[in-house]
Amino acid sequence: MAGMLIVALDFPNEKLALDFIDPLSPEDCILKVGLQLYVAEGPRLVKKLVDKGFKIFLDLKFHDIPNTVAGACKSAADLGVWMINVHASGGPVMLEAAANSLESYQSPPILIGVTVLTSMNSEQLTSTGIQITPKQQVNNLASLCANSGLAGVVCSAQEALSLREQQGREFVLVTPGIRPEGSASGDQQRIMTPLQAKLAGSSYLVVGRPITEASDPLSVIRSIQQSLETD
Ligand code: C5P
Repeated sequence: MAGMLIVALDFPNEKLALDFIDPLSPEDCILKVGLQLYVAEGPRLVKKLVDKGFKIFLDLKFHDIPNTVAGACKSAADLGVWMINVHASGGPVMLEAAANSLESYQSPPILIGVTVLTSMNSEQLTSTGIQITPKQQVNNLASLCANSGLAGVVCSAQEALSLREQQGREFVLVTPGIRPEGSASGDQQRIMTPLQAKLAGSSYLVVGRPITEASDPLSVIRSIQQSLETD
């Protein structure tokens, strides 16, 4: 059972990505393909990973006019991926177009929204013309996602607790910024352990470097999975 752990395949090319997943099976974890790997290798690699049986979160954060985003969502769904995302700040018409584009699929990907990038602080948000705090903006955009037919959002684990209360049990919360006990935080500012994030209400945890840079990634994956079973 892949459970709630999503491993970010942040590699520059197919060879490094495939070498990394070689010892892994689809039962160990879900895989996230982001912009770096996708721009380098394209849909063919995504299809290859899907054909190996992995659940794939295609993290391309679509943000464009409604018609273009709807088309991109369909192209992603045609690859057989498990989860996709769009920028919530694209607005309600774009979000509804994205949700509607998946209606004809028998098992559509889970569609989630990106709220406020965790790299944005208050000052940066203000400079884009938004005069409220990042937390308030995350809440607004999460409500917008829920009202537009999206299944959930990407958010920091710190935001998970209030969003879980606000949006209820079914709302999907995908949280990056996760660091197992004792691992380096890297450039992530506000981190939580996998168990803390789960207890805060996360549905899925995104972990990259603590696993991809480990000498034995599978053992780190297993120890994270084990830590999540302990409550
Ligand atoms: O290596 P690390 O665990 O920090 O990787 C986290 C992953 O989650 C990266 O792929 C990063 O792009 C992604 N992510 C994030 N913060 C967000 C959205 C996505 O760290 N707000």
